[in-house]
Amino acid sequence: MHDHAALSHAMRSSARVYPLFVFDTDILDPLPRQDRRVEFIRESLVELDHLIQTHASDPKAGLLIGHGKALDIVVRAAQELGVQAVFTNHDDEPQSLARDRQILGALASSGIAFHTFKDHVFFERSEVLTQSGQPFSVFTPYKNAWLKQYESAMAQAHPLPDRALPFAPRPSGWPTQVPELKSLGFERTNLSELAIAAGPSGARQAWEDFKTRIQHYRETRDFPAVKGPSYLSVHLRFGTVSLRSLVQHAHHLQAQGDEGASTWLSELIWRDFYHQILHHHPHVVDRAFKPAYDDINWEHGSAAQALFQSWCDGKTGYPLVDAAMRQLNQTGYMHNRLRMVTASFLVKDLGIDWRWGERYFATHLNDFDLAANNGGWQWASSSGCDAQPYFRIFNPINQSEKFDPQGRFIRRYVPELSALPDRAIHAPWLAKPIELQESGLKLGQHYPNPLVDHAQAREKTLARYAVVKSKAVKPTKG
Ligand code: FAD
Repeated sequence: MHDHAALSHAMRSSARVYPLFVFDTDILDPLPRQDRRVEFIRESLVELDHLIQTHASDPKAGLLIGHGKALDIVVRAAQELGVQAVFTNHDDEPQSLARDRQILGALASSGIAFHTFKDHVFFERSEVLTQSGQPFSVFTPYKNAWLKQYESAMAQAHPLPDRALPFAPRPSGWPTQVPELKSLGFERTNLSELAIAAGPSGARQAWEDFKTRIQHYRETRDFPAVKGPSYLSVHLRFGTVSLRSLVQHAHHLQAQGDEGASTWLSELIWRDFYHQILHHHPHVVDRAFKPAYDDINWEHGSAAQALFQSWCDGKTGYPLVDAAMRQLNQTGYMHNRLRMVTASFLVKDLGIDWRWGERYFATHLNDFDLAANNGGWQWASSSGCDAQPYFRIFNPINQSEKFDPQGRFIRRYVPELSALPDRAIHAPWLAKPIELQESGLKLGQHYPNPLVDHAQAREKTLARYAVVKSKAVKPTKG
Protein backbone atom coordinates (compact mmCIF):
# COMPACT_ATOMS: atom_id res chain seq x y z
CA MET A 1 0.00 0.00 0.00
CA HIS A 2 2.74 2.49 0.79
CA ASP A 3 5.01 1.74 -2.16
CA HIS A 4 3.34 0.13 -5.16
CA ALA A 5 4.10 1.67 -8.53
CA ALA A 6 0.94 0.62 -10.36
CA LEU A 7 -1.37 1.53 -7.48
CA SER A 8 0.27 4.91 -7.09
CA HIS A 9 -0.10 5.69 -10.80
CA ALA A 10 -3.69 4.47 -10.85
CA MET A 11 -4.58 6.62 -7.84
CA ARG A 12 -2.98 9.70 -9.30
CA SER A 13 -4.69 9.44 -12.66
CA SER A 14 -8.15 8.06 -11.82
CA ALA A 15 -11.26 9.24 -10.03
CA ARG A 16 -12.00 5.70 -8.83
CA VAL A 17 -9.83 2.60 -8.49
CA TYR A 18 -10.85 -1.06 -8.22
CA PRO A 19 -8.08 -3.10 -6.59
CA LEU A 20 -8.07 -6.61 -8.10
CA PHE A 21 -6.07 -9.72 -7.24
CA VAL A 22 -6.30 -12.89 -9.32
CA PHE A 23 -5.55 -16.38 -8.03
CA ASP A 24 -4.33 -17.51 -11.43
CA THR A 25 -5.17 -21.14 -12.12
CA ASP A 26 -2.42 -21.35 -14.74
CA ILE A 27 0.01 -20.88 -11.84
CA LEU A 28 -1.95 -22.69 -9.13
CA ASP A 29 -3.09 -25.84 -10.96
CA PRO A 30 0.33 -27.52 -11.21
CA LEU A 31 1.16 -26.89 -7.51
CA PRO A 32 0.90 -29.47 -4.72
CA ARG A 33 -2.36 -29.05 -2.79
CA GLN A 34 -0.45 -28.02 0.33
CA ASP A 35 1.68 -25.05 -0.64
CA ARG A 36 3.02 -22.53 1.87
CA ARG A 37 3.18 -19.84 -0.80
CA VAL A 38 -0.54 -19.97 -1.51
CA GLU A 39 -1.24 -19.72 2.21
CA PHE A 40 1.26 -16.86 2.55
CA ILE A 41 -0.41 -14.99 -0.32
CA ARG A 42 -3.87 -15.60 1.08
CA GLU A 43 -2.91 -14.29 4.52
CA SER A 44 -1.21 -11.29 2.97
CA LEU A 45 -4.39 -10.51 1.02
CA VAL A 46 -6.47 -10.58 4.20
CA GLU A 47 -4.22 -7.87 5.61
CA LEU A 48 -4.26 -5.93 2.35
CA ASP A 49 -8.06 -6.04 2.18
CA HIS A 50 -8.17 -4.66 5.71
CA LEU A 51 -5.72 -1.87 4.81
CA ILE A 52 -7.78 -0.93 1.76
CA GLN A 53 -10.95 -0.72 3.85
CA THR A 54 -9.14 1.37 6.46
CA HIS A 55 -7.78 3.90 3.98
CA ALA A 56 -10.65 4.09 1.50
CA SER A 57 -12.97 7.08 1.33
CA ASP A 58 -15.87 4.71 0.56
CA PRO A 59 -16.87 2.41 3.45
CA LYS A 60 -17.96 -0.26 0.95
CA ALA A 61 -14.54 -0.47 -0.71
CA GLY A 62 -12.51 -3.70 -0.60
CA LEU A 63 -10.24 -5.94 -2.56
CA LEU A 64 -11.78 -7.74 -5.53
CA ILE A 65 -10.58 -11.32 -5.74
CA GLY A 66 -10.80 -13.49 -8.82
CA HIS A 67 -9.99 -17.17 -9.19
CA GLY A 68 -9.40 -18.48 -12.72
CA LYS A 69 -7.28 -17.65 -15.73
CA ALA A 70 -5.79 -14.17 -15.38
CA LEU A 71 -6.63 -13.32 -18.98
CA ASP A 72 -10.33 -14.14 -18.54
CA ILE A 73 -10.72 -12.51 -15.15
CA VAL A 74 -8.85 -9.29 -15.81
CA VAL A 75 -10.50 -8.70 -19.16
CA ARG A 76 -14.02 -9.59 -17.98
CA ALA A 77 -13.67 -7.49 -14.83
CA ALA A 78 -12.37 -4.51 -16.80
CA GLN A 79 -15.29 -4.74 -19.23
CA GLU A 80 -17.98 -5.28 -16.58
CA LEU A 81 -16.70 -2.51 -14.33
CA GLY A 82 -16.39 -0.17 -17.29
CA VAL A 83 -12.85 0.91 -16.47
CA GLN A 84 -10.77 3.08 -18.78
CA ALA A 85 -7.44 1.58 -17.89
CA VAL A 86 -5.80 -1.36 -16.11
CA PHE A 87 -2.62 -0.69 -14.13
CA THR A 88 -0.16 -3.38 -13.08
CA ASN A 89 3.53 -3.97 -12.45
CA HIS A 90 6.08 -5.63 -14.72
CA ASP A 91 6.74 -9.33 -14.46
CA ASP A 92 9.60 -10.37 -16.73
CA GLU A 93 9.21 -14.14 -16.57
CA PRO A 94 8.63 -15.36 -20.16
CA GLN A 95 5.26 -16.97 -19.33
CA SER A 96 4.06 -13.81 -17.59
CA LEU A 97 5.17 -11.62 -20.47
CA ALA A 98 3.15 -13.81 -22.83
CA ARG A 99 0.13 -13.58 -20.51
CA ASP A 100 0.43 -9.80 -20.27
CA ARG A 101 0.71 -9.47 -24.06
CA GLN A 102 -2.55 -11.39 -24.40
CA ILE A 103 -4.23 -9.22 -21.79
CA LEU A 104 -2.98 -6.07 -23.50
CA GLY A 105 -4.43 -7.28 -26.83
CA ALA A 106 -7.79 -8.28 -25.36
CA LEU A 107 -8.15 -5.01 -23.45
CA ALA A 108 -7.12 -2.97 -26.47
CA SER A 109 -9.90 -4.50 -28.53
CA SER A 110 -12.36 -3.23 -25.90
CA GLY A 111 -10.73 0.20 -25.97
CA ILE A 112 -9.21 -0.22 -22.49
CA ALA A 113 -5.63 0.91 -21.86
CA PHE A 114 -3.07 -1.34 -20.16
CA HIS A 115 -0.31 0.44 -18.23
CA THR A 116 2.61 -1.43 -16.66
CA PHE A 117 5.37 -0.20 -14.38
CA LYS A 118 8.69 -1.23 -12.89
CA ASP A 119 8.20 -2.20 -9.27
CA HIS A 120 9.69 -5.60 -8.41
CA VAL A 121 13.36 -4.67 -8.93
CA PHE A 122 15.37 -1.49 -8.46
CA PHE A 123 16.87 -1.30 -11.97
CA GLU A 124 15.24 -3.43 -14.64
CA ARG A 125 15.66 -4.66 -18.18
CA SER A 126 18.10 -2.36 -20.03
CA GLU A 127 18.43 0.35 -17.39
CA VAL A 128 21.99 -0.65 -16.47
CA LEU A 129 24.16 -1.34 -19.52
CA THR A 130 27.87 -1.41 -20.35
CA GLN A 131 29.46 1.68 -21.87
CA SER A 132 28.91 0.16 -25.29
CA GLY A 133 25.22 -0.31 -24.55
CA GLN A 134 25.35 -4.07 -24.00
CA PRO A 135 23.79 -6.00 -21.13
CA PHE A 136 26.23 -7.09 -18.42
CA SER A 137 26.92 -10.76 -17.89
CA VAL A 138 29.51 -10.40 -15.13
CA PHE A 139 28.34 -9.31 -11.71
CA THR A 140 31.09 -7.00 -10.38
CA PRO A 141 31.07 -4.50 -13.27
CA TYR A 142 27.26 -4.65 -13.22
CA LYS A 143 27.26 -3.83 -9.54
CA ASN A 144 29.70 -0.94 -10.04
CA ALA A 145 27.54 0.50 -12.82
CA TRP A 146 24.41 -0.06 -10.68
CA LEU A 147 25.94 1.86 -7.77
CA LYS A 148 27.10 4.65 -10.06
CA GLN A 149 23.59 5.06 -11.44
CA TYR A 150 21.93 4.99 -8.03
CA GLU A 151 20.34 8.22 -6.87
CA SER A 152 18.50 8.53 -3.60
CA ALA A 153 15.47 10.05 -5.38
CA MET A 154 15.02 6.71 -7.18
CA ALA A 155 14.57 4.98 -3.84
CA GLN A 156 11.60 7.16 -2.84
CA ALA A 157 8.38 5.26 -2.32
CA HIS A 158 5.65 5.67 -4.95
CA PRO A 159 3.33 7.98 -3.04
CA LEU A 160 -0.42 7.67 -2.58
CA PRO A 161 -2.62 10.78 -2.30
CA ASP A 162 -2.47 12.29 1.16
CA ARG A 163 -6.20 11.83 1.84
CA ALA A 164 -8.80 9.09 2.05
CA LEU A 165 -8.19 6.95 -1.02
CA PRO A 166 -10.69 6.82 -3.88
CA PHE A 167 -11.12 3.05 -3.91
CA ALA A 168 -14.41 2.15 -5.56
CA PRO A 169 -17.13 0.30 -3.62
CA ARG A 170 -16.98 -3.46 -4.10
CA PRO A 171 -19.62 -4.28 -6.75
CA SER A 172 -22.17 -6.99 -6.05
CA GLY A 173 -21.25 -10.46 -7.27
CA TRP A 174 -17.68 -10.29 -5.95
CA PRO A 175 -16.68 -12.19 -2.79
CA THR A 176 -16.80 -9.87 0.21
CA GLN A 177 -13.96 -11.71 1.89
CA VAL A 178 -10.71 -13.28 0.81
CA PRO A 179 -11.65 -16.89 -0.05
CA GLU A 180 -10.60 -19.67 2.30
CA LEU A 181 -7.78 -21.93 1.14
CA LYS A 182 -10.24 -24.79 0.76
CA SER A 183 -12.34 -22.98 -1.76
CA LEU A 184 -9.19 -22.32 -3.77
CA GLY A 185 -8.52 -26.08 -3.75
CA PHE A 186 -5.69 -25.97 -1.18
CA GLU A 187 -5.13 -27.24 2.34
CA ARG A 188 -3.42 -25.59 5.27
CA THR A 189 0.31 -26.10 5.66
CA ASN A 190 2.58 -25.72 8.70
CA LEU A 191 3.14 -22.00 7.86
CA SER A 192 1.61 -20.82 11.13
CA GLU A 193 4.07 -22.96 13.13
CA LEU A 194 7.06 -21.42 11.36
CA ALA A 195 8.54 -18.01 12.08
CA ILE A 196 7.23 -16.73 8.74
CA ALA A 197 4.65 -14.02 9.31
CA ALA A 198 2.84 -12.99 6.13
CA GLY A 199 1.77 -9.60 4.84
CA PRO A 200 3.27 -6.15 5.29
CA SER A 201 3.15 -6.57 9.08
CA GLY A 202 5.22 -9.77 8.79
CA ALA A 203 7.69 -7.98 6.53
CA ARG A 204 7.95 -5.06 8.94
CA GLN A 205 8.68 -7.44 11.80
CA ALA A 206 11.42 -9.25 9.84
CA TRP A 207 12.94 -5.97 8.67
CA GLU A 208 12.96 -4.38 12.15
CA ASP A 209 14.66 -7.49 13.45
CA PHE A 210 17.23 -7.54 10.66
CA LYS A 211 18.02 -3.82 11.07
CA THR A 212 19.48 -4.64 14.50
CA ARG A 213 21.75 -7.28 12.91
CA ILE A 214 22.61 -5.82 9.52
CA GLN A 215 26.04 -4.56 10.62
CA HIS A 216 27.07 -8.17 11.39
CA TYR A 217 25.73 -9.57 8.10
CA ARG A 218 29.14 -9.99 6.48
CA GLU A 219 30.52 -12.18 9.30
CA THR A 220 27.35 -14.13 10.07
CA ARG A 221 25.66 -14.74 6.74
CA ASP A 222 27.49 -17.98 5.90
CA PHE A 223 26.65 -19.91 9.05
CA PRO A 224 23.28 -21.64 8.85
CA ALA A 225 22.98 -22.18 12.61
CA VAL A 226 23.31 -18.41 13.18
CA LYS A 227 20.58 -15.85 12.60
CA GLY A 228 22.63 -13.97 10.00
CA PRO A 229 20.50 -13.24 6.92
CA SER A 230 17.36 -11.13 6.75
CA TYR A 231 14.79 -13.85 5.89
CA LEU A 232 13.09 -11.20 3.76
CA SER A 233 13.19 -13.17 0.50
CA VAL A 234 9.59 -14.35 0.67
CA HIS A 235 8.45 -10.75 1.22
CA LEU A 236 10.59 -9.50 -1.66
CA ARG A 237 9.17 -12.27 -3.81
CA PHE A 238 5.54 -11.45 -3.12
CA GLY A 239 5.83 -7.69 -2.83
CA THR A 240 4.89 -7.41 0.83
CA VAL A 241 7.93 -5.22 1.49
CA SER A 242 9.16 -2.10 -0.28
CA LEU A 243 12.39 -3.02 -2.07
CA ARG A 244 13.15 0.68 -2.49
CA SER A 245 13.04 1.35 1.25
CA LEU A 246 15.42 -1.59 1.87
CA VAL A 247 17.84 -0.37 -0.78
CA GLN A 248 17.67 3.17 0.55
CA HIS A 249 18.44 2.09 4.10
CA ALA A 250 21.30 -0.23 3.09
CA HIS A 251 22.78 2.38 0.75
CA HIS A 252 22.67 5.02 3.45
CA LEU A 253 24.49 2.71 5.90
CA GLN A 254 27.02 1.73 3.24
CA ALA A 255 27.82 5.42 2.69
CA GLN A 256 28.62 5.61 6.41
CA GLY A 257 31.07 2.71 6.08
CA ASP A 258 28.84 -0.12 7.36
CA GLU A 259 30.37 -3.23 5.77
CA GLY A 260 27.47 -5.48 6.74
CA ALA A 261 25.00 -3.20 4.97
CA SER A 262 27.31 -2.95 1.99
CA THR A 263 27.48 -6.75 1.61
CA TRP A 264 23.72 -7.00 2.02
CA LEU A 265 23.14 -4.32 -0.62
CA SER A 266 25.27 -6.44 -2.97
CA GLU A 267 22.82 -9.28 -2.48
CA LEU A 268 19.92 -7.05 -3.50
CA ILE A 269 21.99 -6.07 -6.55
CA TRP A 270 22.50 -9.79 -7.37
CA ARG A 271 18.73 -9.99 -7.43
CA ASP A 272 18.50 -7.20 -10.03
CA PHE A 273 21.42 -8.77 -11.91
CA TYR A 274 19.67 -12.12 -12.37
CA HIS A 275 16.44 -10.41 -13.37
CA GLN A 276 18.19 -8.52 -16.16
CA ILE A 277 19.93 -11.75 -17.23
CA LEU A 278 16.52 -13.41 -17.58
CA HIS A 279 15.22 -10.42 -19.51
CA HIS A 280 18.11 -10.39 -22.00
CA HIS A 281 18.68 -14.16 -22.18
CA PRO A 282 15.30 -15.88 -21.80
CA HIS A 283 16.84 -19.12 -23.16
CA VAL A 284 18.26 -19.72 -19.64
CA VAL A 285 14.82 -20.92 -18.57
CA ASP A 286 15.51 -24.33 -20.05
CA ARG A 287 19.04 -24.20 -21.42
CA ALA A 288 22.50 -23.34 -20.18
CA PHE A 289 23.51 -19.69 -20.33
CA LYS A 290 26.78 -20.90 -21.92
CA PRO A 291 25.67 -23.23 -24.76
CA ALA A 292 28.69 -25.57 -24.48
CA TYR A 293 27.29 -26.79 -21.15
CA ASP A 294 24.22 -28.19 -22.88
CA ASP A 295 26.45 -30.99 -24.21
CA ILE A 296 27.16 -32.44 -20.77
CA ASN A 297 26.01 -36.00 -20.42
CA TRP A 298 24.18 -36.25 -17.08
CA GLU A 299 23.33 -39.44 -15.23
CA HIS A 300 19.97 -40.85 -16.28
CA GLY A 301 17.68 -43.83 -15.86
CA SER A 302 16.46 -45.48 -12.68
CA ALA A 303 19.82 -45.23 -10.85
CA ALA A 304 19.82 -41.47 -11.38
CA GLN A 305 16.17 -41.28 -10.27
CA ALA A 306 17.07 -43.09 -7.05
CA LEU A 307 20.03 -40.78 -6.35
CA PHE A 308 17.82 -37.77 -6.99
CA GLN A 309 15.10 -39.07 -4.66
CA SER A 310 17.64 -39.58 -1.85
CA TRP A 311 18.81 -36.00 -2.34
CA CYS A 312 15.20 -34.70 -2.26
CA ASP A 313 14.48 -36.67 0.92
CA GLY A 314 17.65 -35.56 2.75
CA LYS A 315 19.06 -39.10 2.77
CA THR A 316 22.36 -38.81 0.95
CA GLY A 317 24.48 -39.78 3.95
CA TYR A 318 26.19 -36.36 3.88
CA PRO A 319 24.81 -34.68 7.03
CA LEU A 320 25.02 -31.03 5.97
CA VAL A 321 23.37 -31.77 2.61
CA ASP A 322 20.66 -33.79 4.34
CA ALA A 323 20.05 -31.17 7.02
CA ALA A 324 19.66 -28.53 4.32
CA MET A 325 17.22 -30.59 2.26
CA ARG A 326 15.17 -31.35 5.36
CA GLN A 327 15.11 -27.64 6.24
CA LEU A 328 13.69 -27.00 2.77
CA ASN A 329 11.11 -29.79 3.04
CA GLN A 330 10.00 -28.81 6.54
CA THR A 331 10.00 -25.01 6.22
CA GLY A 332 10.21 -23.94 2.55
CA TYR A 333 13.36 -21.95 3.36
CA MET A 334 16.98 -22.90 2.79
CA HIS A 335 19.99 -20.89 3.87
CA ASN A 336 21.97 -19.40 0.97
CA ARG A 337 25.23 -21.22 1.80
CA LEU A 338 23.29 -24.48 1.83
CA ARG A 339 21.56 -23.75 -1.46
CA MET A 340 25.06 -23.58 -2.94
CA VAL A 341 26.20 -26.74 -1.14
CA THR A 342 23.15 -28.87 -2.01
CA ALA A 343 23.05 -27.65 -5.62
CA SER A 344 26.73 -28.39 -6.07
CA PHE A 345 26.29 -31.80 -4.46
CA LEU A 346 23.42 -32.76 -6.77
CA VAL A 347 25.22 -31.66 -9.91
CA LYS A 348 28.86 -32.38 -9.16
CA ASP A 349 28.71 -35.28 -6.69
CA LEU A 350 25.65 -37.11 -8.01
CA GLY A 351 26.00 -36.04 -11.66
CA ILE A 352 22.35 -35.06 -11.96
CA ASP A 353 21.14 -32.44 -14.43
CA TRP A 354 20.85 -29.05 -12.68
CA ARG A 355 17.34 -28.64 -14.11
CA TRP A 356 16.04 -31.46 -11.89
CA GLY A 357 17.24 -29.64 -8.80
CA GLU A 358 16.01 -26.31 -10.09
CA ARG A 359 12.52 -27.77 -10.51
CA TYR A 360 12.56 -29.26 -7.02
CA PHE A 361 13.56 -25.92 -5.51
CA ALA A 362 10.89 -24.19 -7.62
CA THR A 363 8.23 -26.40 -6.09
CA HIS A 364 9.41 -26.16 -2.50
CA LEU A 365 11.01 -22.74 -1.91
CA ASN A 366 8.71 -20.16 -0.35
CA ASP A 367 10.77 -17.47 -2.07
CA PHE A 368 10.97 -19.25 -5.43
CA ASP A 369 11.84 -16.69 -8.03
CA LEU A 370 12.59 -17.90 -11.55
CA ALA A 371 15.42 -15.42 -12.18
CA ALA A 372 17.25 -15.98 -8.86
CA ASN A 373 16.67 -19.73 -8.74
CA ASN A 374 17.82 -20.27 -12.30
CA GLY A 375 20.80 -17.97 -11.68
CA GLY A 376 21.73 -19.91 -8.53
CA TRP A 377 21.48 -23.30 -10.21
CA GLN A 378 23.41 -22.24 -13.27
CA TRP A 379 26.03 -20.72 -10.97
CA ALA A 380 26.40 -24.02 -9.11
CA SER A 381 26.53 -26.10 -12.28
CA SER A 382 29.04 -23.63 -13.81
CA SER A 383 26.83 -23.22 -16.88
CA GLY A 384 25.70 -19.72 -15.96
CA CYS A 385 26.96 -16.21 -16.47
CA ASP A 386 29.69 -15.38 -13.99
CA ALA A 387 29.39 -18.88 -12.53
CA GLN A 388 32.01 -20.68 -10.51
CA PRO A 389 34.48 -22.54 -12.79
CA TYR A 390 33.50 -26.14 -13.49
CA PHE A 391 36.60 -27.52 -11.79
CA ARG A 392 35.70 -25.78 -8.53
CA ILE A 393 33.82 -28.50 -6.70
CA PHE A 394 32.63 -27.95 -3.15
CA ASN A 395 33.79 -30.64 -0.75
CA PRO A 396 30.63 -31.28 1.32
CA ILE A 397 32.64 -32.34 4.37
CA ASN A 398 34.89 -29.27 4.33
CA GLN A 399 31.86 -27.04 3.85
CA SER A 400 30.24 -28.68 6.86
CA GLU A 401 33.33 -28.33 9.08
CA LYS A 402 33.78 -24.71 8.04
CA PHE A 403 30.22 -23.42 8.18
CA ASP A 404 28.62 -25.61 10.84
CA PRO A 405 31.68 -26.45 12.95
CA GLN A 406 29.80 -27.69 16.02
CA GLY A 407 27.12 -29.38 13.94
CA ARG A 408 24.41 -27.21 15.50
CA PHE A 409 22.49 -26.89 12.27
CA ILE A 410 22.92 -30.58 11.45
CA ARG A 411 21.60 -31.60 14.88
CA ARG A 412 18.50 -29.44 14.38
CA TYR A 413 17.45 -31.22 11.19
CA VAL A 414 19.14 -34.61 11.45
CA PRO A 415 18.39 -35.50 15.06
CA GLU A 416 19.47 -39.12 14.59
CA LEU A 417 23.06 -37.82 14.52
CA SER A 418 22.73 -35.54 17.53
CA ALA A 419 24.64 -37.77 19.95
CA LEU A 420 27.74 -37.91 17.75
CA PRO A 421 30.68 -35.78 18.87
CA ASP A 422 31.16 -32.53 16.92
CA ARG A 423 34.25 -33.85 15.20
CA ALA A 424 32.44 -36.89 13.80
CA ILE A 425 29.14 -35.34 12.83
CA HIS A 426 30.28 -34.06 9.43
CA ALA A 427 31.12 -37.54 8.07
CA PRO A 428 29.64 -40.24 10.33
CA TRP A 429 31.08 -43.07 8.24
CA LEU A 430 34.56 -41.90 9.30
CA ALA A 431 33.63 -41.94 13.01
CA LYS A 432 35.44 -44.39 15.26
CA PRO A 433 33.41 -47.55 16.03
CA ILE A 434 33.36 -46.52 19.70
CA GLU A 435 31.89 -43.12 18.79
CA LEU A 436 29.13 -44.78 16.78
CA GLN A 437 28.47 -47.27 19.54
CA GLU A 438 28.33 -44.61 22.28
CA SER A 439 25.91 -42.51 20.27
CA GLY A 440 23.71 -45.52 19.53
CA LEU A 441 24.03 -44.96 15.79
CA LYS A 442 23.93 -47.80 13.31
CA LEU A 443 24.90 -46.56 9.86
CA GLY A 444 22.73 -48.02 7.14
CA GLN A 445 19.95 -48.47 9.68
CA HIS A 446 19.41 -45.18 11.54
CA TYR A 447 21.16 -43.01 8.99
CA PRO A 448 22.33 -43.87 5.44
CA ASN A 449 25.86 -44.59 4.38
CA PRO A 450 27.13 -41.97 1.92
CA LEU A 451 25.65 -42.38 -1.57
CA VAL A 452 28.95 -41.61 -3.25
CA ASP A 453 32.60 -41.17 -2.39
CA HIS A 454 33.35 -37.49 -2.87
CA ALA A 455 36.88 -37.98 -4.25
CA GLN A 456 35.68 -40.46 -6.87
CA ALA A 457 32.65 -38.33 -7.72
CA ARG A 458 34.96 -35.37 -8.22
CA GLU A 459 37.07 -37.25 -10.77
CA LYS A 460 33.93 -38.39 -12.59
CA THR A 461 32.66 -34.82 -12.72
CA LEU A 462 35.89 -33.47 -14.12
CA ALA A 463 35.67 -36.11 -16.86
CA ARG A 464 31.98 -35.30 -17.45
CA TYR A 465 32.76 -31.60 -17.82
CA ALA A 466 35.69 -32.25 -20.20
CA VAL A 467 33.20 -31.74 -23.02
CA VAL A 468 33.04 -28.01 -22.24
CA LYS A 469 36.83 -27.68 -22.22
CA SER A 470 36.98 -28.73 -25.85
CA LYS A 471 34.76 -25.82 -26.82
CA ALA A 472 35.87 -22.25 -26.44
CA VAL A 473 34.14 -20.92 -23.33
CA LYS A 474 35.33 -17.38 -23.29
CA PRO A 475 33.65 -15.18 -20.69
CA THR A 476 31.56 -12.48 -22.32
CA LYS A 477 32.91 -9.00 -21.85
CA GLY A 478 31.06 -6.70 -19.55
P1 FAD B 1 19.60 -12.34 2.58
O1 FAD B 1 20.97 -12.90 2.70
O2 FAD B 1 19.09 -11.52 3.68
O3 FAD B 1 19.62 -11.49 1.22
C1 FAD B 1 18.71 -10.39 1.01
C2 FAD B 1 17.97 -10.55 -0.29
O4 FAD B 1 18.86 -10.45 -1.39
C3 FAD B 1 17.29 -11.89 -0.45
O5 FAD B 1 16.05 -11.90 0.22
C4 FAD B 1 17.16 -12.00 -1.96
O6 FAD B 1 16.04 -11.28 -2.44
C5 FAD B 1 18.41 -11.29 -2.45
N1 FAD B 1 19.47 -12.27 -2.72
C6 FAD B 1 20.37 -12.77 -1.85
N2 FAD B 1 21.22 -13.60 -2.49
C7 FAD B 1 20.84 -13.64 -3.77
C8 FAD B 1 21.33 -14.29 -4.93
N3 FAD B 1 22.39 -15.10 -4.89
N4 FAD B 1 20.66 -14.13 -6.08
C9 FAD B 1 19.59 -13.31 -6.16
N5 FAD B 1 19.09 -12.64 -5.10
C10 FAD B 1 19.71 -12.79 -3.94
N6 FAD B 1 16.72 -16.42 -4.00
C11 FAD B 1 15.42 -16.18 -4.18
O7 FAD B 1 14.93 -15.11 -3.77
N7 FAD B 1 14.60 -17.07 -4.80
C12 FAD B 1 15.08 -18.27 -5.27
O8 FAD B 1 14.31 -19.05 -5.85
C13 FAD B 1 16.45 -18.58 -5.05
N8 FAD B 1 16.97 -19.77 -5.45
C14 FAD B 1 18.30 -20.02 -5.26
C15 FAD B 1 18.83 -21.24 -5.71
C16 FAD B 1 20.19 -21.51 -5.56
C17 FAD B 1 20.74 -22.83 -6.06
C18 FAD B 1 21.02 -20.56 -4.94
C19 FAD B 1 22.49 -20.85 -4.77
C20 FAD B 1 20.51 -19.36 -4.49
C21 FAD B 1 19.15 -19.06 -4.64
N9 FAD B 1 18.59 -17.85 -4.18
C22 FAD B 1 17.27 -17.59 -4.40
C23 FAD B 1 19.44 -16.79 -3.60
C24 FAD B 1 19.56 -16.80 -2.06
O9 FAD B 1 19.93 -18.08 -1.62
C25 FAD B 1 18.28 -16.37 -1.36
O10 FAD B 1 17.84 -15.15 -1.88
C26 FAD B 1 18.50 -16.17 0.14
O11 FAD B 1 18.98 -17.34 0.72
C27 FAD B 1 17.18 -15.75 0.79
O12 FAD B 1 17.33 -15.59 2.17
P2 FAD B 1 17.35 -14.16 2.86
O13 FAD B 1 16.19 -13.35 2.45
O14 FAD B 1 17.53 -14.41 4.31
O15 FAD B 1 18.66 -13.55 2.19
